[in-house]
Amino acid sequence: MRTPLIAGNWKMNGSLALVERFGQALATASLPAGVEVALVVPFPYLAAAGQALADAPVALGAQTLHQAVEGAYTGEVSGPMLAELGVRYVLVGHSERRTLFHEDDAGVLARVQAALGAGLTPILCVGETLAEREAGRTMEVVLGQVKAVYDALTAEQRARLVIAYEPVWAIGTGKTATPEQAQGVHGALRGCLAAYDRALAEATRLLYGGSMNAGNAAELLSQPDIDGGLVGGASLKVDDFLAICQSA
Ligand code: PGA
Repeated sequence: MRTPLIAGNWKMNGSLALVERFGQALATASLPAGVEVALVVPFPYLAAAGQALADAPVALGAQTLHQAVEGAYTGEVSGPMLAELGVRYVLVGHSERRTLFHEDDAGVLARVQAALGAGLTPILCVGETLAEREAGRTMEVVLGQVKAVYDALTAEQRARLVIAYEPVWAIGTGKTATPEQAQGVHGALRGCLAAYDRALAEATRLLYGGSMNAGNAAELLSQPDIDGGLVGGASLKVDDFLAICQSA
């Protein structure tokens, strides 16, 4: 069966002091067995987080990467650099990257391929805007974002991804998708993967993200096709984040 994954996405928040606090708390916390936990921190904190989390069963994640391995790309960070720091997961196609930094489907695919090439596990983020949902286009948009990547991958590559469904209208807004809304999209995502390969659909972890918190996590995570969470705001408070991990 699928191992649940709770990934905390700090976005451009936090500090070295917060890294230390999480390191101490997670090393001594009783994290639930059979649940994988990851902290997705800003680039400058990756090395410190790797050390602070060395005694905790917590994986390290990065928030994006450049598609090239190396070269004249001032300000960018490559997959091999992340891998060298012990990073396991990397977010690709987060809606903030798509919107604020103009990452299109081709750019998202290139980054997924770069991540796979570096031995990282991409967490492919997909989701519809409020206008798209209200226009009845949710499935078309979300499944389209998945197909733009999966159509170009080999079967072996597809088996290495995690998908996070994050309705854009629920990110950082306090408006969570209802468990029924989230399960509806997750079910459709699993159906979409089954069209590639039934075993792929069974094995792929589908995370929900968008205002997940200690109060709503348990109900979301109890849905049959929700295999974990990508947690933004609530991942900056150690007690809230631990509570979400406990409910997985
Ligand atoms: P949020 O962010 O939990 O603050 O809504 C989730 C995300 O963007 O990954």
